[in-house]
Amino acid sequence: MVGNDEIAELLLPETKLTPEELESRYPERSLPEGAYVTRFAPSPTGFLHTGSLFTAFLAHRLAKQSGGVFFLRIEDTDTKRTIAGSAEELIEQLARFGIIADEGFLPEGEKGDYGPYRQSERGEIYKVFVKKLLKEGKAYPDFCTAEDLARIRAVQEASKVIPGYWGPYARDRKLTNEERKVRILRGDPWVIRFRSEGNHDRKVRFHDEIRGDLDIAENDIDVVILKSDGLPTYHFAHVVDDHLMRTNLVSRGEEWIPSTPVHLELFRALGWERPRYAHLPVIMKLDHGNKRKLSKRKDPEAAVSYFLKEGYPPESLLVYLMSIANSNFEEWTEKEGSFDYRLFPFSLGKMSLDGALFDLDKLTFFSRELLARWRGKDMLPPLLSWAKENDHALARRVEKDPSYMEKILDIEKDRPNPRKDYAKWSDVAPATSFFYRDLFEPLEDKGFPYDPKYELTFVSSWLEECAGEMLYGVDEAAWWAGVKELASRRGFATRNKDYKERPGDYVGSLVDAAELLRLAITGAKRSPNLHEVISILGEEETKRRLLHEVRRSEESAQ
Ligand code: GLU
Repeated sequence: MVGNDEIAELLLPETKLTPEELESRYPERSLPEGAYVTRFAPSPTGFLHTGSLFTAFLAHRLAKQSGGVFFLRIEDTDTKRTIAGSAEELIEQLARFGIIADEGFLPEGEKGDYGPYRQSERGEIYKVFVKKLLKEGKAYPDFCTAEDLARIRAVQEASKVIPGYWGPYARDRKLTNEERKVRILRGDPWVIRFRSEGNHDRKVRFHDEIRGDLDIAENDIDVVILKSDGLPTYHFAHVVDDHLMRTNLVSRGEEWIPSTPVHLELFRALGWERPRYAHLPVIMKLDHGNKRKLSKRKDPEAAVSYFLKEGYPPESLLVYLMSIANSNFEEWTEKEGSFDYRLFPFSLGKMSLDGALFDLDKLTFFSRELLARWRGKDMLPPLLSWAKENDHALARRVEKDPSYMEKILDIEKDRPNPRKDYAKWSDVAPATSFFYRDLFEPLEDKGFPYDPKYELTFVSSWLEECAGEMLYGVDEAAWWAGVKELASRRGFATRNKDYKERPGDYVGSLVDAAELLRLAITGAKRSPNLHEVISILGEEETKRRLLHEVRRSEESAQ
């Protein structure tokens, strides 16, 4: 009689370690009650998806909030899909969001006592448990070729049964050990499958921290646990890792809910306690009124790099993601007067279930709010580093005179309701270019957009007066009083009420007078506080602009 032990030895002769040795190599963690051990476990198959950032961020928050551990594991057992360098890129991008694991795969290398943290380097560990299952008769070798599997599928299709390697269709689960031995010794290629005890007509119940109790059809597929390349599948690898790395909360995308019964069955077969689960909602997008998943192909915002390239501060995106995670976060920010999500008690129980909807306008809103609280000196370094990569001309302007840009960024900041001009670094150049002489577009290029009720000769004489007599280097009240006086002399009504009552008595209102001035100085009808603008431009440049307008409008009037 050939026993299971003999088959296990024939299949995995090199595997000498025992489960007990591994259990003691990776002991239980001693952490305070209620501390979560969470992980982010990306497959290095491409760029960092916005949904993955969401998952990583929340796993990180949960660990930090509870005084636990967040680790990063690279799930690269699907070697055909692995893209070289993408794991490194991924962790660097996460680091830009301040998501740095306590242990695992880190930008500076591996750290932690539960490694290696790259699955492709844990081959021997998985085999120890595959061997254990083989010995216990809970796993078996399958010698099916691709053609054999195709044949099984064809039979299943013809008889309209659920496809897959299960029950009566699991051809090689019925082999005797004698038959197995012959095939192994003959050198037939094999994979190892788990022998499922499940029945898809029955339900298995598990508790999801977000969704509550879920009843899902049991697994009855004999899933592959060890592939022909000697590496495990995701199903098996992550169960072994989450056990040995002592994860107590598996937070991952909701696309894994249907496979959870397989994972539960594996935990049970291995005699391990199952972790808690939280299946996070997928990020959706409203597309012509229909909700759909963010698509890697169609939506640029599916890639985290899009936001970095546009120049959203990472912090803004995180604030926004927290607002999708917990709808009470926004209310909290108002109550606390803070956007510091680190202080917010994020709760899995308060997650929305019907798919988080990505809304660029909302991100813009949060980002503007956030940047409105930053002073120029804090904005300069991230602005410059963004500009160096994405807008060289802007970078040169900032580097040439950082304090000039700092002053611009500080306009109307020092007040309870600060200006909200910028949502992203790419907003800075268009909003600030008029401060730079070489970028300032004189109004003649725009066809003199002054109020047509004024003749150009009138405009030019008003501007000339301002250029000569406006006060410089004084505070706003004094400057404004001066402008008012000039305006009144020129025939503008200095009180709106007067102008409304007797428009015929005046050339216009103070608003009109200021608009002419603003247009000549900033090139636009709307601008930040004109007094601050003039103070930054300085007397010489302001006069130059005004006199240029005087000359050009005179010339044009002739
Ligand atoms: N490697 C899996 C993925 O990228 C991870 C799922 C999990 O977190 O368990 O989807």
